[in-house]
Amino acid sequence: MDDQTCRICGCTDYGCRQCIEKTGEPCCWIESDLCSACIDEKGFVFIDSADRPYWCRMYGNEPWIMYWHIHQKSWVTLRKVTQTDIWKFHEMKVPDEQADFLHTLHEKSQR
Ligand SMILES: [Zn+2]
Ligand SMILES: [Zn+2]
Repeated sequence: MDDQTCRICGCTDYGCRQCIEKTGEPCCWIESDLCSACIDEKGFVFIDSADRPYWCRMYGNEPWIMYWHIHQKSWVTLRKVTQTDIWKFHEMKVPDEQADFLHTLHEKSQR
C-alpha cells in the first residue's frame, strides 16, 4: 500500500492537522493525490440519483454546493458541505466536458 500525499497541502493519512485547523474536520481523499480540504473555486460537478446537477466548490473560503436551476440555466448556492460530503459527492463526479458545458450556460445566463 502506498502512502498518499495531497499535492496541494501535503497532508497524509498520518498528518492532517492543517486540514483540521482549516476546515474543523479531517479530510478525505477525493483523488489519489488530492484531499477534500483542497478543492478550489473550480471544484467539480456531480449528478445525484435523480440526475440533478450540483457544483461542489470552494466559495468564500468554505466548501459549498450549488444546484443547477433548470429554468434560469444557472447555479444557485444551496448549502455548505462537510469533508465527508465532498468525498461522497466526488464519487458521482461528471466528466469535465459536461461540467464546462453547464458553466458556459451559467455564464451566458449572467449577461
Ligand atoms: Zn490537501
Ligand atoms: Zn488533510
